[in-house]
Amino acid sequence: MLPERLSRLEELSRNLWWSWSPEARALFRSISVRLWRSTDHNPVRMLRVVTPDRLERLAEDPTFLKKYDALVRTFEKYLRAHPPKREKSQAEAASPSIAYFSAEYGLHGSLPIYSGGLGILSGDQAKTSSDVPLDFTAVGFMYPKGYFDQEISGAGDQIAHYDDLDIANVAIERATLPNGEPLVVSLPMQRPDDLLHLQVWLVLCGRVKIYLMDSNIELNEPANRDITTRLYGGDREYRLRQEIALGVGGIRVLRALGLQPEVFHANEGHVAFTFLERLREGIASGLSILEAKQTVRNSSVFTTHTPVPAGHDAFDPDLIAKYFWHYWPQIGMSKEEFFALGEHDGLFNMTALSLNLSARTNAVSKKHGEVTATMWPDYLNTDGKKTGTANPGTILSSITNGIHIPTWLAPEMEDLFHHELGHQWKEHLEDVHMWEQIRDVSDETFWRIRQQLKTSLFSFITDRVRRKWSPLLFNDEASNPGEPATDHLFEKQGSFVASGLLLDPSILTIGFARRFATYKRATLIFHDLNRLKALVTDPVRPIQIIFSGKAHPADEGGKQLIREIWNYALDPAFGGRIAFIENYGMHVAKYLVRGVDLWMNNPKAPLEASGTSGMKAAINGIPNFSILDGWWMEGFIGGDAPASATRNGWGFPGITSGSQEDQDREDATHMYDTLEREIIPLFYDKGIDGIPHRWLQVAKESIATLLPRFCGQRMMREYLETMYRPAANHPHAK
Ligand SMILES: *Cc1c(COP(=O)(O)O)cnc(C)c1O
Repeated sequence: MLPERLSRLEELSRNLWWSWSPEARALFRSISVRLWRSTDHNPVRMLRVVTPDRLERLAEDPTFLKKYDALVRTFEKYLRAHPPKREKSQAEAASPSIAYFSAEYGLHGSLPIYSGGLGILSGDQAKTSSDVPLDFTAVGFMYPKGYFDQEISGAGDQIAHYDDLDIANVAIERATLPNGEPLVVSLPMQRPDDLLHLQVWLVLCGRVKIYLMDSNIELNEPANRDITTRLYGGDREYRLRQEIALGVGGIRVLRALGLQPEVFHANEGHVAFTFLERLREGIASGLSILEAKQTVRNSSVFTTHTPVPAGHDAFDPDLIAKYFWHYWPQIGMSKEEFFALGEHDGLFNMTALSLNLSARTNAVSKKHGEVTATMWPDYLNTDGKKTGTANPGTILSSITNGIHIPTWLAPEMEDLFHHELGHQWKEHLEDVHMWEQIRDVSDETFWRIRQQLKTSLFSFITDRVRRKWSPLLFNDEASNPGEPATDHLFEKQGSFVASGLLLDPSILTIGFARRFATYKRATLIFHDLNRLKALVTDPVRPIQIIFSGKAHPADEGGKQLIREIWNYALDPAFGGRIAFIENYGMHVAKYLVRGVDLWMNNPKAPLEASGTSGMKAAINGIPNFSILDGWWMEGFIGGDAPASATRNGWGFPGITSGSQEDQDREDATHMYDTLEREIIPLFYDKGIDGIPHRWLQVAKESIATLLPRFCGQRMMREYLETMYRPAANHPHAK
C-alpha cells in the first residue's frame, strides 16, 4: 500500500495523462529507474512491484515531495479545464458533444489494444481532444488477449504470442453506472433470445473517457464469450460478430450512461453498425424511416482510412441475413431495402453502409481524398448537386492526419522548446512563426540533443539483447512473462546480431518501421543487393538500417518479408549493420522515431492513405526520405538545389505505371541515387567541430515546417470546423 503522504500516486497512475506529461513521467521514473525500464514505462505495474521500503523513504524525501505536490497541482489544473459551453451565440468557441467509435486504440504500450496506424490515430485523437479540450467520449473494445507480442525465431519466422492481459497491471478500471453497479449492456445476435452481454471497462485519458467493451463474462454462452478476445483474429463470421458487438453494443453503452451526443464519429467501417442501431432507435422513438435516416445522416461523421480494397470490410449477404433477419422488421424495412443500405459489388460493405448513412465523410490526406473520390463516386455529393432524399450522397473532405505532439516528442526536445520558445509553446502548436525560431537554435545544442536521443535508442537496443541473452537478470516480478527459457538461448545467439548488437552509433542510421503489409515494400532497399552492400560497408561513409514491424498473423506475404530482412541481418556481408527490432509497438516506436538519423518510407503509390510515423520522426528533428504519397506529398519541401536551405527532407514520386517489377526497380534506383548523391554526403559533411551543419538545417527545417502542420491540434480543429460543428448545428441533429 502507498504511504498516506503519497496516496495520490495511485490516482495519477490510473489516468493515462501520465503517458504524455513529461513531469509525471519524470516523477515515476525517479521512484526507480530500473523498474521504470523493466516495466516498459508503466507506473501501474511499477507501483505494484516497488518495495514499500522505497516508498516510505520517498514519503520523507523533501525533493521528491516537492515534485509530487507540484505534479498533483498540475494534474488537477489540467482536469479542471472544461470544454467551453455550447451556446448558440458562441458557436465559434464551442465544442459539441462528440461520441467517437473505433475498433482499436493505441494509447500506451501497456494496453495492447491496437495493431497499427488506425489505432495510434484513434489514441492520438482522444489525447488531443483531451488537451484542446473537446467534449469527446470514445468507445471501443477491450481485447483480453490484445494484439500479439512478436518474437522472431532463429530462422526469421514470426512467432505470435497472445498473452492474457493482466488487468491489474494497466491503467484501466471497471465502468460503473451512477448507482455504482457494474455497467453491462446486452444485444441480440442470431436470434432475439441469443443475447450477448458486454461488460465495460473505462480508461481515463486525461479529460476524455474511453469505454471498452469485453464479452468475456460468465453471463455469456461459451460461444459468445470470446467475441472480443483478439484484435482482428478469426474468420469472417467472427469478424462480423465482433463488428455487431462493437457497433450495436457501442451505442448501448452510451445510452446506458445516459449520454445523448450531438455528433457520432465512426472511425473506419468496422464500427458502421452504430448507424443501424441508431436507425433502430429512431424508428422505435416514432420517426418514419426517412426521418430516422436523415437524423442519423446529419449527425454522423465517417472517416475512411485506406485505398487498399481489402481494407474495406464486406460480408456475404447470407451471413448478414443470419444475424439481421430479426432486425429489418424492427426498422420497418424489407430484406431488399435493408441490403440496399450497404450493398456494393454483391456484398454488404461496411464502407458503403457508412457513406450511405453519414452526411459527411473524410479521407486522411489530400491525395487519399482524390483516390477515395475515384473509389466511391456513386456515394458522393461532390458538387452539392445531389439534393434528392433518396440518394443524397455524402460530402467528402480531406483532413490530413496529425499526431499528438506530447506523446511522440522526446523529453529532450521538450526542454529545448521550453528554452527556445517560452513556456507557453504547447498552447501555440499551430503557430508557424513561432516555429521558425527553431532555425536559430545553435547547431551545437541541436546536435547534442540529437546525439543524446541516438544514444538512448542504442542503449534500448542493447538492453533488449541483454534481456534475451539473460532473462535471469530481469527475473523480478516485473519481467516479461513471455520471455524465452534459458535453454533455448544458445541456439539464438545469431539472433543477437539481427537484433542490433553490432550497430554503431557513429554511422548514419536509417529507420524503417511499420506494419509489414506487402504494399509498404519493406524490402525495396534490398532490390539491388550489391549496390546496397556497397553503401552499408563503405569504409568512409557507411549506413546502417533498423527495421521493425509486425505482419498480420494471416499475412504470409508480410511474414515472408520479415524472414528476408532477418536473413539479410544475419548475413556477414552486411557486417551487422542491418537490424530488426522485435515487437514493434508504441514503446519501440518511441525510441525509433526519436533516435535514428533518417526516416524512410517507400510504399507502393498511391496506397499510403496518410502515414504518421514520419511525422513523429520529423518533430524530433529527423528528416524524412519518402515516396511522395499520403502526408508527405503535403509536407515535403524540396528545392532544386541539393541541400537547398529550405529543404525539410527528401521525396520522390513513386512510379505508378508499368509492371510491379518495373515500378520496384525504378523506385529502388531512385532511392540509391538520392542516398548516394545527396543524403549520405550531407550527413557526413561535418565541420572541424564534428557537427554536420548543413544536415542540421534540414533537421531543424523538419520541425519548423512540419510540426505546426501535422500536430493533432490542427487535425482536431479541422474535424471540429468541417465535420463536428456542421453536424451538430444541423436542424435534424439530435
Ligand atoms: C505511428 C505508428 C504506426 C503508424 O505508422 P505509419 O507511418 O502510418 O505506418 C504504426 N504502429 C506504431 C506502433 C506506431 O507508433
